[in-house]
Amino acid sequence: MRIRVAHLYPDYLNIYADRGNIAVFERRAALRGHALEITGVAPGASLDPSSFDLIYVGGGQDREQALVAPDLAERGQLLRTAVDEGTALLAVCGGYQLLGRSYRGRDGSSMPGAGLFPLETVAGDRRLIGDVLLDVDLDGCTTTVAGFENHAGRTLLDPGAVPFGRVLAGHGNDGASRLEGCRVAAAIGTYLHGPLLPRNPVLADWLLARALEHAGGDGYLEPLADELERLAHVVSAGRARSRGGR
Ligand code: GLN
Repeated sequence: MRIRVAHLYPDYLNIYADRGNIAVFERRAALRGHALEITGVAPGASLDPSSFDLIYVGGGQDREQALVAPDLAERGQLLRTAVDEGTALLAVCGGYQLLGRSYRGRDGSSMPGAGLFPLETVAGDRRLIGDVLLDVDLDGCTTTVAGFENHAGRTLLDPGAVPFGRVLAGHGNDGASRLEGCRVAAAIGTYLHGPLLPRNPVLADWLLARALEHAGGDGYLEPLADELERLAHVVSAGRARSRGGR
């Protein structure tokens, strides 16, 4: 099958080689005989999010975020409709923050958000940095997700909002709630950089399966051997565990 992917602002939001997540989608899809058709979306470019099966937004610092925030906020309603209709989405760090209602950066100025995720973010004085390990429930499939975080933003979820995961080690959304990221339908926002997907193949396949369903398939993906990927996960999870709760 053909999986249509929109990559938002690739020239602005690509800190920590977040683009590597797209390479993982591409490779894991190809190994099952599916092809990704990737469209890079620049600020101002026309986009109908509903015509994509998967949307990806990477991370970036406050400066880059400010450059794309108004454009992303304008696309909010269309993005919400697409996610309501089953388009899968992964947003990392700076992209995650901007898909909430607003982000107040280090200099105190406020950026508008797209309002897809029910949350707000305000930058704090101290950055929250280090390896992270999460306990995640993907529609009944429980797994751990390992990654790396580096953010000044403190993200507060609205009451009743669903986090992406619970923090086993690391800081998470705000360093206090033990919650990490946010989930709405098949849309996931998270602080985990990395890239995130090479060491978390279960998450990569869950998103790919949702994208395939949106494309009209049954979402079945043949299991892969994933020896190196599992090893990468174990090493990364061990690093986070040795760091403990902060
Ligand atoms: N500027 C944001 C923060 O520091 C996001 C940083 C990032 O994407 N690493 O909270």
